Amino acid sequence: MKALDELTFDNRFARLGDAFSTHVLPEPLDEPRLVVASKAAMALLDLDPAVAETPVFAELFGGHKLWAEAEPRAMVYSGHQFGGYTPQLGDGRGLLLGEVYNEAGEHWDLHLKGAGMTPYSRMGDGRAVLRSSIREFLASEALHALGIPTSRALCVIGSSTPVWREKQERGAMVLRLAHSHIRFGHFEYFYYTKKPEQQAELTEHVLNLHYPECREQPEPYLAMFREIVERNAEMIAKWQAYGFCHGVMNTDNMSILGITFDFGPFAFLDDFDAHFICNHSDHEGRYSFSNQVPIGQWNLSALAQALTPFISVDALKEALGLYLPLYQAHYLDLMRRRLGLTTAEEDDQTLVEGLLKLMQNSGVDYTLFFRRLGDESATLAVARLRDDFVDMAGFDAWAERYKARVARDGDYTQEQRRERMHAVNPLYILRNYLAQNAIAAAEAGDYSEIRRLHEVLSKPFEEQAGMEQYAQRPPDWGKHLEISCSS
Ligand code: AMP
Ligand code: MG
Repeated sequence: MKALDELTFDNRFARLGDAFSTHVLPEPLDEPRLVVASKAAMALLDLDPAVAETPVFAELFGGHKLWAEAEPRAMVYSGHQFGGYTPQLGDGRGLLLGEVYNEAGEHWDLHLKGAGMTPYSRMGDGRAVLRSSIREFLASEALHALGIPTSRALCVIGSSTPVWREKQERGAMVLRLAHSHIRFGHFEYFYYTKKPEQQAELTEHVLNLHYPECREQPEPYLAMFREIVERNAEMIAKWQAYGFCHGVMNTDNMSILGITFDFGPFAFLDDFDAHFICNHSDHEGRYSFSNQVPIGQWNLSALAQALTPFISVDALKEALGLYLPLYQAHYLDLMRRRLGLTTAEEDDQTLVEGLLKLMQNSGVDYTLFFRRLGDESATLAVARLRDDFVDMAGFDAWAERYKARVARDGDYTQEQRRERMHAVNPLYILRNYLAQNAIAAAEAGDYSEIRRLHEVLSKPFEEQAGMEQYAQRPPDWGKHLEISCSS
């Protein structure tokens, strides 16, 4: 266990120099205070969880203090936003403080979001509000607990600094951890600004540090791109299987590591709705729930374009062709498991599709349906769940098919079925209204709700005593909350 001053830095990205990032110091928040910390994330840095409660913790992650070995840098990148190219973006309100490596030898970027203005702030104020910082914190840690690849969050620091959005709010900072903060947009930036040397340097950097095994391949760059395609297919399959809607899948928000990245107006589905749009500003539904699958491929094509100086167009196209089949295989595998199936049959795809269509028509709760399906034998569970469906005849037909499929699947006890299904079907999910409750309390200075919610969501598959209120459908006020982009 380490104290805060015992972190070991090795700032590999900063060493790439001024063509890639700019030195900027964090702008401190007034009266910084700990809102919430993740013990699990602290463990990634070998940090003693007790240090979160010390004043120096809030000072460090509230921008007042800095380690001598930290080298705070704002990274430059660009990206396609809602389909159109924006030539320059960059860290407008976040700083890479440095790279820390832990005792296991893993490197973690420390990225402080909400740290003030940088050369890339454009019209923004460089700040993040408490509301959005809490949402990013909860989402990162909740996705991780569900087994979905994601950046992590160490803590949220609140303050008395006024920040203007639609109304006056308070500034906050969230400390994000990831093995890298390099985005598709980094590659696009050097490609479109026609800086082949830096682009090669960036590609070498990513290959050496994050895809070293691709060096062994005959075409290392192509192998790396293929790996990125595979990781994205797997990540998006998990989003779809668990009902996660990202909301702003611009290429500057897509990580080169295939992890969920940059949380804004995201949402988990309450009722199943394939057409759900979580981003209030996404009028066309470009990033609707079901569109995430083709958009994943669109974003990979944008990255492929930026890699054309290194890889032939034919090879890139072939690698891109892997995306959909891989996505489908991962998705179907997860959905089979959510249905409690251990074998694969040709028709499983239509079994899943049939169920989703029924759920869509009846507005059935996506999370609770699967959890309850595993509570009992297939026969008892479908008999109980039937009441949630408007088209009961349609559900009965599906249920007959499902029971027959379960019977063919294998011979196991109800106890085994429950255990297996509950291990993949969460009871607790980060519903927007739950986040909203925690935010309202935190804005009033009470951090007990966010801490409790974080705790519950860190074990989403385990039923926790006294936490029934976190496993309910949203109340009327909590359905379809409008989450704006102004974070
Ligand atoms: P996002 O939609 O959060 O992914 O941000 C898109 C771009 O806008 C990034 O370059 C951000 O750094 C920048 N940005 C977002 N909010 C702010 C802000 N309040 N101040 C400065 N830059 C911002
Ligand atoms: Mg972003």
